[in-house]
Amino acid sequence: MIDSFNRNIDYMRISITDRCNLRCRYCMPDGVELCTHDDILRFNEIVMVCKEAVKLGIVNFKITGGEPLVRRDCSELIKEIYEIDGVKDVTLTTNGIFLEEQLEDLVSAGVKSINISLDTLDRKRYEEITGFDKIDKVFQGIEKAVRLGVRVKINAVLHDEHYEEDFISLCLLSKKYPLDVRFIEMMPIGYGADSKLISNDLLLELLKNKFGSVRQDNAKRGHGPARYYEVDGLKGRIGFISAIHGVFCDSCNRIRMTSTGEVKSCLCFDKGFDLKDAINNRDEIEISEILKQSILEKPEKHCFDEEENITEAKKMIQIGG
Ligand code: SAM
Ligand code: SF4
Repeated sequence: MIDSFNRNIDYMRISITDRCNLRCRYCMPDGVELCTHDDILRFNEIVMVCKEAVKLGIVNFKITGGEPLVRRDCSELIKEIYEIDGVKDVTLTTNGIFLEEQLEDLVSAGVKSINISLDTLDRKRYEEITGFDKIDKVFQGIEKAVRLGVRVKINAVLHDEHYEEDFISLCLLSKKYPLDVRFIEMMPIGYGADSKLISNDLLLELLKNKFGSVRQDNAKRGHGPARYYEVDGLKGRIGFISAIHGVFCDSCNRIRMTSTGEVKSCLCFDKGFDLKDAINNRDEIEISEILKQSILEKPEKHCFDEEENITEAKKMIQIGG
């Protein structure tokens, strides 16, 4: 495994499309210019990159987008990645709209854990945030995933209006279902740059005030930087991903690949490492060299607290979160 600043890089987020069936305002604030179909990597090309990544010690993958489930046969891709010798874990992050209809295929492909993005349980607010009245579809997906024994993690980005109400009702989801609910601090990109940041420290205080007995859970869960808490009466855990306030760069274990084959080492900077030519030439050595370079040139830390230094201009939908 290659390390960068003593961080072992073993995880890659792979965006497989820049398309989405929702329009969350913080993810694609002014709409988004779509890539052409020819620019988007084919599944066999993604698998080629994964094979080289595994040789470098990257053995865990998260399939993201855009919305990964709008791309036909997403489960086929996951199955092919699982077939690569050495791969440990392939998970998915989705808005949940197409989940119910694709779950059996995803589970057969080997998926054991799914992140579902859901920022409010209020129907009207859901529509305001995402542009669509589709919260029922998300719930059908959540219920079926729980029924099939898939580990479900709800990911929520809270908006400054009604954040208390949304926070409490989302936490209570974990009373009804055995799932974890995690709160991600909004990143100052696009809409996020102009809205009031709800810090996770504030939410942790709210959690303690509302639920009383709250214990930090130090077990390693998943591959990310979430800090988890156990709360009496809840079946799952409450997690916090403090992207802004809890600079966790010293344990950052990941690189990202966009749907067009650009590798990114940090969300904050526009620097990318283009794999497209190497992929077109089926040049495995060059793919490996570019992946290595992206790891070795990974910055020591992000600069979200110094907005003037953020150089990334892409929207989150184009990066994959
Ligand atoms: N469509 C899928 C979904 O919604 O989970 C996958 C792609 S989405 C870009 C991945 C994650 O990025 C979601 O959890 C979303 O909430 C998060 N995200 C989008 N914009 C963000 C922002 N400005 N700050 C923090 N998280 C953001
Ligand atoms: Fe689509 Fe996910 Fe972005 Fe919402 S957060 S617009 S669901 S990609």
